[in-house]
Amino acid sequence: MKIALALLFHRTREGLRLTRPKAQMPMQYYEPNFIGEALVVLDRFGERAKVLAGGTLLGPHLRVNPDAADALVNLKRITELSEIRLDGDALLVGALATARSIARDPLVTIHAPLLAAAASSLGAPQLRTVATIGGNVLSTHHAADMACALLACDATATVAKLDDEVLTVPVGQMLSPAFAGLRAGSLLAGFRIPIAVESVDRKGRPLQGRPLPRLSAFEKMQTRQAFELALVSVCASVRRQPDGGVAEARIALGGAAQTPIRAIAAERAMAGGDMSDARIARAAHAAADVDAEPCDDDRASAAYRRQLVRTLVTRALISIRRTIAEGA
Ligand SMILES: Cc1cc2nc3c(=O)[nH]c(=O)nc-3n(C[C@H](O)[C@H](O)[C@H](O)COP(=O)(O)OP(=O)(O)OC[C@H]3O[C@@H](n4cnc5c(N)ncnc54)[C@H](O)[C@@H]3O)c2cc1C
Repeated sequence: MKIALALLFHRTREGLRLTRPKAQMPMQYYEPNFIGEALVVLDRFGERAKVLAGGTLLGPHLRVNPDAADALVNLKRITELSEIRLDGDALLVGALATARSIARDPLVTIHAPLLAAAASSLGAPQLRTVATIGGNVLSTHHAADMACALLACDATATVAKLDDEVLTVPVGQMLSPAFAGLRAGSLLAGFRIPIAVESVDRKGRPLQGRPLPRLSAFEKMQTRQAFELALVSVCASVRRQPDGGVAEARIALGGAAQTPIRAIAAERAMAGGDMSDARIARAAHAAADVDAEPCDDDRASAAYRRQLVRTLVTRALISIRRTIAEGA
């Protein structure tokens, strides 16, 4: 949070001031204690209000565009937005949960290991301490790590509005290029990740006679490890049949299209089959040549990203196969 505040404020003799040209109206700053309070402020200022979470993206944006908002609503006091807990057959992760807390939470490591792996890969430790999962999804960056993991987990987002209406939106829909962003006056409250609670005991061990737990692998390629977004990332998970075959595969790609996407053709190539080299190769080719629609940019060419998709999908599926062979 310190990083974000330093980007937004400057020190004067009287104390801290929001960084804004003097001629303009001062930006109003709010720290509500409850979701309802935040929604009242957001409703009052409409399009002219900005929600501040970790501030790793909003901070630099407001520094360059100081007149982009009339009100800043810092969510840090709303403790329920940082909660991570089980609710029946789902894991609930508050929008304000940081990458660091997600990576370390035992509930996440047991029930949504892909999300834990994606969170722990994000940026550097300083960034993980402040960067939130809500901000990551709303950044709509094509290589947003936690967004990609949520997509592979079939998660839904919960959006709160002043009229007590709570909207549930599939994360896939929220990440689609057609999504117009959250309506003014609304707040992203958190995510609901479906889990097979009944299939594992408290320590994550499979229970006798119950469906086998989903196995997953996260792969990421970046030019350097800290302070750099992925060129391409892959979140893969497999639900097995008792005979060792694949009942269902979920594969999400980051950095391979305009937004994080599900690799539907690759998932179909894996479903109902075994985990042989040939099938894995077919799935990797499908991901690279059918699902991926990468762009050229100053960090990598589209052709290179396509090759990375092929390599990382192969690696992820082989890693899952190895886990199965080790007796998971
Ligand atoms: C140096 C550097 C390295 C990075 N490395 C990575 C990386 O490896 N992987 C990766 O995925 N990302 C990376 N990022 C991007 C960024 O840090 C993450 O996407 C982060 O999770 C954004 O979250 P935040 O809490 O800082 O969002 P903020 O900057 O606070 O907010 C981002 C946007 O979302 C809105 N918002 C946030 N929360 C809510 C809410 N609850 N309701 C409504 N609106 C909301 C804000 O108004 C703003 O428009 C990096 C960024 C930097 C600067």
